Amino acid sequence: MYDKLIKLTPEKNVMVNEPLKNHTYTHLGGEADFLVTPETYEQVQEIVKLANKEAIAFTLLGNGSNLIVKDGGIRGIVMNLQKLTSIKTDEEIVVAQSGARIIDVSREALRVKLAGLEFACGIPGSVGGALFMNAGAYGGEIKDVLVRTKVVDREGVLLDLTADQLDLEYRKSNIPEKGYIVLEATFSLQTAEYGAIKAIMDDLTYKRESKQPLEYPSCGSVFKRPPGYFAGKLIQDSALQGQEIGGAQVSLKHAGFIINKNGASAKEYIALIHHVQDTVKGKFGVNLEREVKIIGED
Ligand code: FAD
Repeated sequence: MYDKLIKLTPEKNVMVNEPLKNHTYTHLGGEADFLVTPETYEQVQEIVKLANKEAIAFTLLGNGSNLIVKDGGIRGIVMNLQKLTSIKTDEEIVVAQSGARIIDVSREALRVKLAGLEFACGIPGSVGGALFMNAGAYGGEIKDVLVRTKVVDREGVLLDLTADQLDLEYRKSNIPEKGYIVLEATFSLQTAEYGAIKAIMDDLTYKRESKQPLEYPSCGSVFKRPPGYFAGKLIQDSALQGQEIGGAQVSLKHAGFIINKNGASAKEYIALIHHVQDTVKGKFGVNLEREVKIIGED
């Protein structure tokens, strides 16, 4: 497989037995058989076609901030678009490639005095990952600003879609169901005063830094907001804060976060997620649905 991959993308873009804990926010996860980082849309298409032709497992990794990779790692090809990071602006339009961090897109919007992406200034995902789950915070979400996207489908065909074609809802899109790989996103923003945009971003950053345990590896909020409740409050009221399994701990700063406090394994981290779910279900009868994806082998 290695020989076939390096015919499609330069050798430096193909890593063998690469530890995924170096590519995830939780610092968890075993090795990927092959981690490929294509540099062009054509390379992405060709690698997808190769995976299909060879019937080899294919997994897409963004910035690794909303998933947990298990200790056994991932078989087959893992693709990461970290080398596709351009961000271009033209009047009130911003076009960003999917490997760009959404934080950097929001900073670029500030630089050119465009409002609308302030909510994303502290979300540590890639543009692709942000579209995948319609990322949002503090009342804003991707759905509010996205107008078009370029994706590659399961067959390796490049498609130009409108935002509506992604069926964006609360922390959800049809990207997983359709198997799209996002290559590019076009956002429509509004001209505003630099100081006004910056003030909002500073305020949101302050809120985030004071409430979230950003000093530790984590995957952000582990659970979705259950209808009629707040996950963090339920966890707090279940006296789960500070509880540990191995090196994983329910954060004392933000009950909705589980931190990798001390070299946890994915097994320990996942066991703590289950413990939180079981305890909250037992005490309040509420199912905490995971926002975070768990992938890979035990
Ligand atoms: P990953 O975690 O790498 O992947 C998540 C899913 O997206 C995977 O299924 C992957 O296959 C898919 N994906 C990634 N790239 C692409 C692509 N190019 N095309 C198609 N699918 C793709 N989220 C919020 O919504 N709001 C918040 O306020 C927020 N705060 C956070 C704070 C912290 C400290 C952390 C660690 C996380 C937070 N998150 C938040 C979660 C996370 O940052 C977002 O969900 C982000 O959108 C995930 O992007 P990613 O690139 O890291 O995706």
